[in-house]
Amino acid sequence: MAEKILLGPAGIPTVTKPRSSVEGVKTVAGLGLQAIEIQFVRGVNMSLEAAEEVGRVAKKLNVELSIHAPYYINLCSEKKKTVEESKQRILDSATRGEKMGAHIVVIHPGYYGQLTSEKAFKMVEESFQDLLGRLRDEGVGKVKLGLETMGKQSQFGTLDEIIQLCREVDCVPNVDFAHIFARQGGKIDYGEILDRVAELKLPHLHVHFSGINWTPVKGTDKGNEKNHLEIKANQPPFEPLAREILRRKVSATIISESPILEQDSLAMKRIFEKLGYKF
Ligand SMILES: [Zn+2]
Repeated sequence: MAEKILLGPAGIPTVTKPRSSVEGVKTVAGLGLQAIEIQFVRGVNMSLEAAEEVGRVAKKLNVELSIHAPYYINLCSEKKKTVEESKQRILDSATRGEKMGAHIVVIHPGYYGQLTSEKAFKMVEESFQDLLGRLRDEGVGKVKLGLETMGKQSQFGTLDEIIQLCREVDCVPNVDFAHIFARQGGKIDYGEILDRVAELKLPHLHVHFSGINWTPVKGTDKGNEKNHLEIKANQPPFEPLAREILRRKVSATIISESPILEQDSLAMKRIFEKLGYKF
C-alpha cells in the first residue's frame, strides 16, 4: 500500500465561523486538508453527544480526527490528587475520542520535579497501565493514547523516553519535531528520528510540526522551547522533513501547530506536492 500523508491544523482553523469543532471540520474539508486535532488543552468541555456529532461530520467529509488532552496534566506529581486528576482528564479526553472516532489522544505526560528520569518513567508507566485498564473496562479500545515529545528540559518526554514507554505499554508516540529541535538546542536529524520511531513498527504516525523559538540552557548545548512560529521561520525547516518522510514511504498525519494553523497546513501541502506527492 502506498504511503498516506494527512495534513491539518491543531484546532479550529483561523478562518472558521462560527467557532465550533463541527464548523472546523467542515473548513478543513473545504480547504482540501485531511485532518484536524480537536483541542481540549484548557479542559475537556465537550459532551459525549457533541463528540459523536463531530465524529459523524468528520466521517462524512473524510476528515481524520485526533484530540489534544489538557495541558494541565502531571503524572509525575508527588501529590496523589494531582495524578488522579490528571488521569481523569486523560480518561475524559479518551472517552470523547472514542465517541468521535479519533485515532489518538495526544498527552503531555508531566514534569520531572525532583525525580530522576527513571523514576519519572516508572510513574508515567504505572499511570498508563492503570489508564489502559480503566479504558478497557469502559469499552474504550480504538483510540490510542499518544505520548508527546516535549520541548523543555523540565518536562518528561525526550524521544528516548517516549519510544521506550511505547515499547512497554500499549501507547504510541506523538513526535513534535519543533519540541525536539528546541530541546536539542536548535539541532535536529529527521532521518534519525524517523528511523528510531520505525523500530515501533507503527502503520501510521501522528506528528506535530511548526517553527519554534527557543532559549539556550546556560553551560549546555541544549535548549527550552519558548513559542511556536510559522513554517516560514524555517527553524526547524519543513522541506527536509517532507523529503525524509517520502523517502521512507512513511504514512503520517502532520498537525500544524503554527500560529496560522491551517494556512501552514496548506503550505506543507504545497511542499509535498512540489516533491511529487499527490493528495
Ligand atoms: Zn502538545
